[in-house]
Amino acid sequence: MNVITDLLDFLDSSPLNFHAVATCACRLEKAGFVRLDPSDRWEIAPAGKYYVTANDSAIFAFVAGDGGPASPFHIIAAHSDSPGLRLKPCCEMPSAGGALRLNVEVYGGPILYTWFDRPLSIAGRVITRCANPLRPAHRLVRFSKPLLTIPHLAIHFNRGVNEGNPLSKQRDMIPVVALSEQNPEGFVRRAVANELDIDQNEIIDYDLSLYDTTPAQTIGADNGMVTSGRLDDLSMVHAALTAMLRTCDTSCHATRVMAIFDNEETGSGTKQGAGSPVLEFILRRISSALGANEEDYMRSVAESFMISADNAHGFHPNYPEKYDPTNHPVLGGGPCIKINANCKYMTDADSAAVFASICADAGVPCQYFVNHSDVAGGSTLGNILTGRIPLRGVDMGAPVWAMHSIRETASAADHAYTVDAFTHFFRL
Ligand code: ZN
Repeated sequence: MNVITDLLDFLDSSPLNFHAVATCACRLEKAGFVRLDPSDRWEIAPAGKYYVTANDSAIFAFVAGDGGPASPFHIIAAHSDSPGLRLKPCCEMPSAGGALRLNVEVYGGPILYTWFDRPLSIAGRVITRCANPLRPAHRLVRFSKPLLTIPHLAIHFNRGVNEGNPLSKQRDMIPVVALSEQNPEGFVRRAVANELDIDQNEIIDYDLSLYDTTPAQTIGADNGMVTSGRLDDLSMVHAALTAMLRTCDTSCHATRVMAIFDNEETGSGTKQGAGSPVLEFILRRISSALGANEEDYMRSVAESFMISADNAHGFHPNYPEKYDPTNHPVLGGGPCIKINANCKYMTDADSAAVFASICADAGVPCQYFVNHSDVAGGSTLGNILTGRIPLRGVDMGAPVWAMHSIRETASAADHAYTVDAFTHFFRL
């Protein structure tokens, strides 16, 4: 399968953070990676392949280095979550005529307009009863059939809609799931129980969100564009995973790490987010299982390098005024190194030079992204991580259009370039 077909398959298998992690885990296990439990004592062999998850929504895979207890870490970090709409508890909202709507809360910063008038469905995690109340069971659920839509108001009721129309998250973004539902109370719980083929009384709680059922696809006269939900940041997750799987059977002095965090879109402040010590703990545990003492661990960190991979804003031909006059990466021009004078990104000249050299050696073009000085940009994982571990590293990403739309657009060529650059990095 070529890398773009594989990307489309990965995106369609991953409607939410939980499913992205499950898709990664499944592919890693097929390649012989062994699942570690955070509460077990870890036994790690040099050149061994392992992975561990956090909250079912973050995943960390690594191939242990054979460079001794002070083996450096070569890390690619990305995030599993994307902005969207999440079901609230007790979400059923009956309305006139029996139409049933479901109450939702906005997660992160989606472009709300793009969620209207689409075939949407529901996916997420369901928590079911177990003998030990401290350890309920977790199951993933995904309705593949389109179940809902958020109908836009007709233009005849708002003639000025195309001149700008502020939206209320609580009024305008409520999806309709049925035109006539006689028994609205407990509708979602019954539907989930039915889908999972379990008794509804087993369900204690859930993390369920909406997703667009339209599949990812390539478009354009030369099929050069990829259109999909969640390219930010699942395209970078896919690139990191592909590089890991391509290199995992060759030995290396460095420990190669793929670190996929959750909750980047809300500031990384959770236990499975980049602001927590989750990666630091994993790196320390790997080191200690390889026989390292504290001094060895500090030496490992000093020799390590991290690529923090999160999509960048590609130059949009309709809005040239939004971009920096000399550093505006184009779709198809290769992965971008992200730079910010006020250190919103971890990149400095040293780490930019490392990534530019990796790209050059891999035969891949690369570009620079800097914000237009009058436009505030976003932030990402790199600097949040360096607040926990003083790693050298670079913030980069493939350029996309319409970041945080329900469908973003990227370049197929850039994705192949990114995979090649990451694969080269994991071979160093
Ligand atoms: Zn992102």
